[in-house]
Amino acid sequence: MRYLVLSDIHANMTALEAALAAAKGKWDQCVCLGDLVGYGPDPNEVVDRVRSLSAVTIRGNHDKAVSGIDDIEDFNPVARSAVLWTRERLSPENLKYLEQLPQGPIPVDGFLIAHGALHDEDEYVFSPELAMDGLVTSPTTALFFGHTHIQGGFSLRGDQVSALYLKPANSAHTIKLDLEPDTKYLLNPGSIGQPRDGDARAAFAIADLKNRSVEFWRVPYNIEDVQNRMMQAGLPEPLILRLTFGR
Ligand code: ZN
Repeated sequence: MRYLVLSDIHANMTALEAALAAAKGKWDQCVCLGDLVGYGPDPNEVVDRVRSLSAVTIRGNHDKAVSGIDDIEDFNPVARSAVLWTRERLSPENLKYLEQLPQGPIPVDGFLIAHGALHDEDEYVFSPELAMDGLVTSPTTALFFGHTHIQGGFSLRGDQVSALYLKPANSAHTIKLDLEPDTKYLLNPGSIGQPRDGDARAAFAIADLKNRSVEFWRVPYNIEDVQNRMMQAGLPEPLILRLTFGR
């Protein structure tokens, strides 16, 4: 079974469609690690599209904020105004869908999916130190997580934790990780709709754990198209500009 691993789509339909086009025919089941909405201009389109994929989906912090599960006090003013904009536009049915999304981590066919850290869906796993706890306590060889919008991950072998650099070069679309024996992994497919690792292309992963392999992908998409829709929608300028730089 090959799994398409999507995360942090953030209402960016153009990026999602580019990723799905690139991955076409290469996967059997889709999983989505949360943050379907927030920041981007296409919340209903993205929720409808993810639902059409029959993806195993968990909630992210933006999904919680938009559907009112969490209050938005912890969000910065720019993120907060995008949450309010999104909440006003989502159909009642899609709001309900986001509200009912399960909290991670949840098991999928021998691996786990989480939005943030293993023990706290809202915690950012940025460093080997922050990854250590999840690597040690995860019952599975592989756990996929999102939230940081940084493609890559961490591994644990013996008592050695390593950061893994799994971003395809600018000239390439994929980079492959072969899972080693006696090693555990926390892996981040990167963000579809708002990458923050210095590469503006949409990021995702395709995992074939039976064959001990995970591909990390980057695909270009029409960023200006999304920026134009964001401008028309009156979304905050910093959110529009950062897509150009992937920061
Ligand atoms: Zn996010």
